[in-house]
Amino acid sequence: MKTKILIAALVGLLVISVVSAGLIVSKPEQLGRGGKPGRPEKLEQIIFVHPVAPEKPGKPDKPPGKPPKEPEEPKDNTYYELWGGYLDGTASYYINPNVSLVTAGDPVVAVNNSAEAWDVVTADELFNCAGITAKSWYAEDEQNTISWVKFIPRDYIAIAVMWYDPATMIIYEFDIVFNTFHNWGIDPVKKDRAFDIQNIATHEFGHPAGLDDVYDEIYGELTMYGYSSKGETKKCSLEEGDISGAQELYGE
Ligand SMILES: [Zn+2]
Repeated sequence: MKTKILIAALVGLLVISVVSAGLIVSKPEQLGRGGKPGRPEKLEQIIFVHPVAPEKPGKPDKPPGKPPKEPEEPKDNTYYELWGGYLDGTASYYINPNVSLVTAGDPVVAVNNSAEAWDVVTADELFNCAGITAKSWYAEDEQNTISWVKFIPRDYIAIAVMWYDPATMIIYEFDIVFNTFHNWGIDPVKKDRAFDIQNIATHEFGHPAGLDDVYDEIYGELTMYGYSSKGETKKCSLEEGDISGAQELYGE
C-alpha cells in the first residue's frame, strides 16, 4: 500500500506543541456538488492528530530496596473542551474494513461500538453506520469515511478531519484514518502489540461530536485525552467529562 504523507499534520505537529490540538490547515478549493441540503459552498477544514503517548520523563534508576513513594496527582475525570464545531442531525458514515488485525475480531463491529458510545449518552442520534466503502484516506467528497491507511508521521496513531461552516460551526463532513504503520487489534491481550480499534475510534468520534483533545496528564483517564498507548482500552468507555461535553451540545 502506498504511504501517504501528511504534510499538513507535520506542520500541525509544530503548531500543536505550542498551542493546542485543533488547527485550521487549509481551505479546500474544489467543493462537492449537491449533498446535504444547505451545505455551504466554502467549508473550513480542521485536522486533529492523535500521537503515540510519549515515554515517561526519565526517572532515575532507584537503588535496590523500597523506592520512596511519590505522591500521585489526582486525576480529574470531569473536564472537557469543545473545539467549536457540532453535528446538526445524524451523520452517516462508511467503513473501509481493509486492515489485517493481529487478533481475531471484526473491525466494523469495533468501529460501530465506538460511535455508539457517544450516541447512548446524547439525546440526539449522532452517528449511524451506512455501510462499507472502498474509499480510504481523507477527502472532501461528501462521504464520512473511516479507513486504515499507512501514513507519516508514523507516531500518529490516527487522524480525524472535519469540514465545517465557519459561519455556523456546523460540521458537514468528517473522515477518520487509522495509521497502518501500527498494528491494530480487538482487545489486544499482549501489551505493546497493537492499538485497540474501539479504544482509538471512540476518541476519534469525539472530534466530529465536537470535543477537543486534552493533554494534561491529570485528564489521562478521559476518552478525549490526546495520547494513547498500545494495549490501552480505557478510552472505550466515556468518562464524566466526555459525557458532559457531548451533552452540552446535544442534550442528555
Ligand atoms: Zn484527538
